[in-house]
Amino acid sequence: MMDKVIISVAVTGSWTTRQHTPYVPLTPEEIAQHVVDSWREGAAIAHIHVRDDEGRPTSDPQRYARVRELVRAQGCDVVLNFTTGGGAGQASEEERLAPVRLRPEIASFDAGSLNFNDRVFVNSPQFLERLAQEMLTYGVKPEIECFDTGHIENARRLIDRGLIQPPFWFQLVLGVRGGAPATADQLVHMVRQLPPGAHWSVCAIGRHQLPMNLIALAMGGHVRTGLEDNVYYHYRVLAESNAQLVARLVRIARECGREIASPADVRALLQLTPQPDVLPS
Ligand code: MG
Repeated sequence: MMDKVIISVAVTGSWTTRQHTPYVPLTPEEIAQHVVDSWREGAAIAHIHVRDDEGRPTSDPQRYARVRELVRAQGCDVVLNFTTGGGAGQASEEERLAPVRLRPEIASFDAGSLNFNDRVFVNSPQFLERLAQEMLTYGVKPEIECFDTGHIENARRLIDRGLIQPPFWFQLVLGVRGGAPATADQLVHMVRQLPPGAHWSVCAIGRHQLPMNLIALAMGGHVRTGLEDNVYYHYRVLAESNAQLVARLVRIARECGREIASPADVRALLQLTPQPDVLPS
């Protein structure tokens, strides 16, 4: 029997706008509600980006803390994963480190630089070392986001130096314009490069989201869905919520004989550090 599947939901991201879809949550209240609704459907991890009053990406720790407070106020125990991406590198390094200091159980760790649509997403070796050190200091599990095969090697070098500790949690991000393509060959190749015993999940952009999720389910991997990566439910039909995308994956996973991991299962598997909900200073 294959392991339970961990479903992550990436509810907002830094790219999706109201021009793409009216359904993307942007305020802390909307984001928290999408997280709770997705958790009720079976999401165990929620990946959080926050926006300012104009809907632009921000790394404002007050906003992350507000989302967490609203989520917890509804009795929701979902594992929270705060982004450190800073809107694909638009924020300063200092700003990108701020969410780590709030001690989320998980934070994203973008394991290398790449062209990202019409930008360059810079994650220098010096910044990665600093980010890894900061996560160790604050007891935050890195979600090692790999946009291409070489990013896995970057992570392995940090692992060899003890800057990233087991158990390892990888998010393979496929289909970003400038990154690795969303194909079965590419996924299999990247999974083969992972360190022994690593846990891995797949997310893919746009129309690739569902097919790559299905392949990961069949391979025994974990999956990420949500409006950060894709706004459609069917061809030319918008998804009306993040929860709707999660619910579809839950149905499919169960049909495939994969039970759904709870937040408690994730905490045990990834040996997450119990964290006080630290408020911004
Ligand atoms: Mg993200």
